[in-house]
Amino acid sequence: MITLIKPLLVNITILFSFTFNANLFFPFQTKHHLSLKQKVIYGLIGAFGGLLCMFYPIETLGDTRFDLRMIAIFVITLYTGWLPGMIVLISTCFIRILISGPFVGIGLTINIFALLTALLFRKKFLRSSNKYLLGTIAILCYISIYIILLSFSVHFLHFNFYIIYFTISYFVCMALIFVIEKLIKINKQFEEMVYLDKLTMIGQLTASIAHEIRNPLTTVRGFIQFLSKETKDEQFKQFSSIILDELDRTNSIITNYLMMTKPEQFRLTDIPLHEVIDSCVQLMRPYASYTNVSIEWEKNEPIFIRGDVHSLKQAIMNIIKNGIEAIEGQGIIKINVKPDYFKNKVRLRISDNGRGMSQEQLKQIGLPFYTTKSKGTGLGSMVTNKIIRDMNGSIEYESELGQGTKVTIEFPLLHSET
Ligand code: ADP
Ligand code: MG
Repeated sequence: MITLIKPLLVNITILFSFTFNANLFFPFQTKHHLSLKQKVIYGLIGAFGGLLCMFYPIETLGDTRFDLRMIAIFVITLYTGWLPGMIVLISTCFIRILISGPFVGIGLTINIFALLTALLFRKKFLRSSNKYLLGTIAILCYISIYIILLSFSVHFLHFNFYIIYFTISYFVCMALIFVIEKLIKINKQFEEMVYLDKLTMIGQLTASIAHEIRNPLTTVRGFIQFLSKETKDEQFKQFSSIILDELDRTNSIITNYLMMTKPEQFRLTDIPLHEVIDSCVQLMRPYASYTNVSIEWEKNEPIFIRGDVHSLKQAIMNIIKNGIEAIEGQGIIKINVKPDYFKNKVRLRISDNGRGMSQEQLKQIGLPFYTTKSKGTGLGSMVTNKIIRDMNGSIEYESELGQGTKVTIEFPLLHSET
């Protein structure tokens, strides 16, 4: 029993240290799309970890080794998919074949099942809000398969050993999930900090200039409007509407900017989320149908949150507008609200089936002046993000090129009246 502690600790340390190393190479994120390079590097790190576990077996039975390599295969596959999983699987299997012995077959089968079970649960696991529950189900499934396979082939070791081995396997797996989830959260907070830092810097610099530009702009607009009515010059008449449009656009950019630096207009009160969405949908419907887009909004129970009605409307309309603008030809914007009373949160999801964004584009959304539209301001998402953050909410964009975009917003739930 005591003799098991040392190799067990070595195995556990290897797995944890490789998890932290993988996070150093590419910080863990919730985004499900990894680049090929990321997948290969995660796979290689996992493979190295798995192999080291094999070199420090917990228990040996002739040429058979009990170690925690299958946890490496399992967790890597669960989080990063089949390719990294296969890299770990192939390298550990290769070494297992080199070690040889009478139980090569069972050793390989156990490895392969780690990959298959993880793949089976992967989609559900990544989407689930309770990763520990799904992780437990997945690992227990795998352990059951492992025990069944062992009972058919190897039962020479002491019963107590199996108990310790499987219990430790379960806890190590759960601890790894815990560490990975924590790292994802820390990385997200760090990214948010960098983002806010960028905003503050640019915001402070330009807010003062913006204010100064706005006043003369209003004067210019007034004169152009006045002159365009009075003038006999046909060319001036013709182009004055373009000048006015462009001036309005400039003004809207400045208004958006000033919104960021004028928190005194922002007042938190108890607001009915369902009614706010309702009025946004009403307001956006004409614009949507003009561009052949339909808005599908499932209104059900009333939901209340704490926020500022005016700002929230602006945020939701920005997102809907972006969705409509992303759709070429016919399309649909779906809006739904789902309260989670257990977590005391409400999730608002706005999705479109427009052109979507690449991973590179997704990283830029929300940064000032990032736009791909000829008449865009590149400020809409920045203002939206700020409003939602100021209301203690969170916002996340998921998108796939050619498929569409999903925007998920979460707010703390206030109470619900039925
Ligand atoms: P703007 O709408 O003025 O361009 P935003 O900050 O609202 O500025 O959006 C920035 C960019 O993000 C857009 O130009 C567009 O490329 C991209 N984007 C935002 N929402 C979507 C969406 N739903 N689908 C595809 N691209 C989007
Ligand atoms: Mg926009």
